[in-house]
Amino acid sequence: MPLTWTSKGNYQDMWVFCEQNNNQFVPCSIEMLGEARRLMDKYNKDYSADEKVVAVVFGYQIDALVQEAIERGADVVYSCDDRNLEHFLLEPYTKLIAKAAQGKDTYKSYDEPRYFLFPATNNGRDISATALAALDSGLASDSNLLYINDELIRHPVKTKRGDKVEEIVYPRILHMKRPDFSGFEWSTILCIDDEEKDFHPQACSVIPGSFKALERNSQRKGIRIPVSFGLVAKDLRTKIVKREALPKEADLTNKDVIVSLGRGIAKNPTQGIKLGLELAQVLNADVGISRGVVTAKYPVDPAYMQYIRDVRQVGETGQKVKPKVYIALGISGAIQHKKGMDKSKMIISVNADPNAPIKEFSDVFIEGDIFEVIPKLEAHLARALGGTK
Ligand SMILES: Cc1cc2nc3c(=O)[nH]c(=O)nc-3n(C[C@H](O)[C@H](O)[C@H](O)COP(=O)(O)OP(=O)(O)OC[C@H]3O[C@@H](n4cnc5c(N)ncnc54)[C@H](O)[C@@H]3O)c2cc1C
Repeated sequence: MPLTWTSKGNYQDMWVFCEQNNNQFVPCSIEMLGEARRLMDKYNKDYSADEKVVAVVFGYQIDALVQEAIERGADVVYSCDDRNLEHFLLEPYTKLIAKAAQGKDTYKSYDEPRYFLFPATNNGRDISATALAALDSGLASDSNLLYINDELIRHPVKTKRGDKVEEIVYPRILHMKRPDFSGFEWSTILCIDDEEKDFHPQACSVIPGSFKALERNSQRKGIRIPVSFGLVAKDLRTKIVKREALPKEADLTNKDVIVSLGRGIAKNPTQGIKLGLELAQVLNADVGISRGVVTAKYPVDPAYMQYIRDVRQVGETGQKVKPKVYIALGISGAIQHKKGMDKSKMIISVNADPNAPIKEFSDVFIEGDIFEVIPKLEAHLARALGGTK
């Protein structure tokens, strides 16, 4: 019979950091609340428990947000309502999260949350890291599937007892799955205690769009626990004096034809972009790129710098496009790219690898080197469209 692990501390509930912008939840916040509700309903059934979904909401004049968090699945809302917190600020928000999660109050008598979810948005990525550092636990970033069960673990460090590596059952483990290696491998991350130290909360950031929000239900009841502001001047060194939305440098969302470039341009990025632009010109199209191009940081001719920046990124964390024709050049078809372009009416892809995943959701797949195929495609299309090439 294997041993069963018992944590040293007392942990409970699933907490959700609900990011808001201009007093509206970002969509991922309500998606996480929905998933937290589903997970904890199952958890309570499986373990005959009564643990809660706890939302964390900060801002200014946020009564309506607190109510919405309850209607979207939270049982308890930790809130801090203060003019200084109107917009997201990393340091104060981090301190307040730590204060709520580690403190004891009229609702909370346990040590720390059992689980904690954050949105994998720009702000959410920042605060998930700083909050978990403050809570001295680990973080799995960019998860898109979660479940909880007991897990039999044999691990060279965590379950080593004397000279022997034991098998130990860790109960109630949050399994955090995330796409790796361009989305072609799915890793499962577990945050488990060891003999010296507990690793709680078990926490992750969640990719927007991974889960379904619950419809608002005005019959749902919950309680609100205020987190006292208690920050001093040093905590508020950053002041937001003015906020302005950046103009969209490249709006691809209303284009009929998009030519998108991927890491297939790697052997000569400047030439690859030049060929892509020429093809786009013939088709009166605009140019998009994969995230692979953004992160590769190719040394390109300065005239083409704008074509390797994230303002042109298509995908889950970039622009979501649905043109009549989407031409993917040297793009593998990772799930995150697909999510931003698979509503296109027609998808044409060019790839040197006959087994590239993008083939599966392309209407036309051309196997070949983009440096050879693009000029031919361009000449063919120019003729078909009545041009001279
Ligand atoms: C949280 C998260 C969010 C993400 N969001 C996005 C997103 O919004 N958008 C996005 O695109 N990605 C996103 N990604 C990254 C994504 O997982 C992939 O890493 C990325 O899409 C890969 O870009 P790629 O297809 O250009 O590169 P690769 O996967 O490296 O593929 C390059 C392709 O080019 C082909 N090739 C190489 N040379 C040639 C040639 N000469 N001619 C023809 N074909 C050639 C190869 O066969 C290969 O199929 C995200 C990842 C994470 C973890």
